[in-house]
Amino acid sequence: MIKILSVASECAPFVKTGGLADVVGALPAALRAHDCDMRVLLPGYPAVLAALGGQGVPAMETRAFLPGGGEGRILSAKREGIELLVLDAPGLFDREGGIYTGADRRDYPDNPERFAALCRAAAVIAAEGVPRDSGAEVWRPQVLHLHDWQGGLTPVYLRDLGLAGRVGTLLSIHNVAFHGLAPAEKLGALGLSAEDFSPGGFEYYGQIGALKAGIVFSDRVATVSPTYARELMTPEFGMGLDGVLRARPDGVTGILNGIATSLWDPAEDRELVARFSSPRGKARNRRALAAEFGLPAAGDGPFGDGPLCVVISRMTAQKGLDLLLEALPALVERGGRLAVLGAGDAELEDAWQAAARDHPNVAVRIGYDEALSHRMIAGADAIIVPSRFEPCGLTQLYGLRYGAVPVVALTGGLADTIIPANDAAQKAGCATGIQFNPVDLAALRDALMRLGDLYRDGPAWSAMQRNAMRHPVGWDLSAARYAEVYRELAGVE
Ligand code: ADP
Repeated sequence: MIKILSVASECAPFVKTGGLADVVGALPAALRAHDCDMRVLLPGYPAVLAALGGQGVPAMETRAFLPGGGEGRILSAKREGIELLVLDAPGLFDREGGIYTGADRRDYPDNPERFAALCRAAAVIAAEGVPRDSGAEVWRPQVLHLHDWQGGLTPVYLRDLGLAGRVGTLLSIHNVAFHGLAPAEKLGALGLSAEDFSPGGFEYYGQIGALKAGIVFSDRVATVSPTYARELMTPEFGMGLDGVLRARPDGVTGILNGIATSLWDPAEDRELVARFSSPRGKARNRRALAAEFGLPAAGDGPFGDGPLCVVISRMTAQKGLDLLLEALPALVERGGRLAVLGAGDAELEDAWQAAARDHPNVAVRIGYDEALSHRMIAGADAIIVPSRFEPCGLTQLYGLRYGAVPVVALTGGLADTIIPANDAAQKAGCATGIQFNPVDLAALRDALMRLGDLYRDGPAWSAMQRNAMRHPVGWDLSAARYAEVYRELAGVE
């Protein structure tokens, strides 16, 4: 059994703002079959402490080592099948607002300190271990799996504790857009040495870069799809870190995300009005979805009824939802309907609400609603993911499993997970979705029109839905890949 500590700022089902949480929450169970004993170190946000219900077992006092000397402790508990270690530091994590931002939607000014504390805790756990439930014995990780900038400083603290080369480190980049920058004046507060503050270390143009620290000092760097691994090393997608990534002799390993097929199973999903295991079984969910969103019972247009589409997404420029707004006529004028669930940039939220007022075939819910997202994917004919960049993307995977045909941009993990309905794939009978490229308005419009055409071609459409539902989207292959990387890092066969 290899012992791995996953160090993350989110973990489903306890705390989630995006796909990172799903991955961190799914890996421990997926890895068990591969002889990996993974625990997850999380910040003690109110939601996480609530999940512990006051029952966490104190495993370590942290007063001595938190940057800034704040008080705290590490609690250990098993919840939802996941062995958790929780950094209970109220001064850092007991906040009313979001996990990264306050009520004003701005980042907390002490985010660098908050997540440096998480990294420091990870390094100390690697050094000292934590007691096992059974008492005297100690659980000490052989590998630390760090996620995004929030875990990025860990290898620096590890080295400072004399553990470099003795505990393996893997940094996973889920989104390179977030660098975790802090002003140079925080070096002392973060317990970092000025010696590393150079372009060859963690300095990023005069600031401390936590993600850069992870890239420079970790033993391995991975990301969540093979295509994004290649894209990350280009100036177009690397967001200023492509050069640092290219400088790593071993480059970036791409391991595709899976989804928790037990939570996303149309045959067992308690959220649905009708559970199903073939595309025909979607009909009642489709009617219920239209009703729930107040959409007409059938799309109305010169072409008759069209596909009922959904979008479930953060509302940011990354996700291409501004493009989709502009491309809407190509969908709705041909009888397509669209139900959107999302939250994010105020401007985009407003624009989508205005579109819903203008188009009877468009309905929008602003907010975050996990249960609704299940009902939407179950009822949808198609799910649209027009991202400008997409490290992996999870909603297209849910779409595949629930027979909601994905219409996706040809980028990152979207390129790696969908078999596009080109002539070859259709002749071979293996298409699972529609891809468009480049990611611009004209290509998206074409894709939406093609969606309408395919939808009206009964046999081709049913074949695509069946292919989609059969496509493997679980964790098996990827968990095996991670296990291989952990074994290499731990130096065991
Ligand atoms: P990202 O992590 O960039 O936001 P992903 O596609 O990897 O994108 O993961 C997003 C996750 O968050 C998916 O599980 C998706 O279903 C979920 N999600 C996003 N927005 C919402 C929302 N408004 N309501 C419910 N779930 C959402």
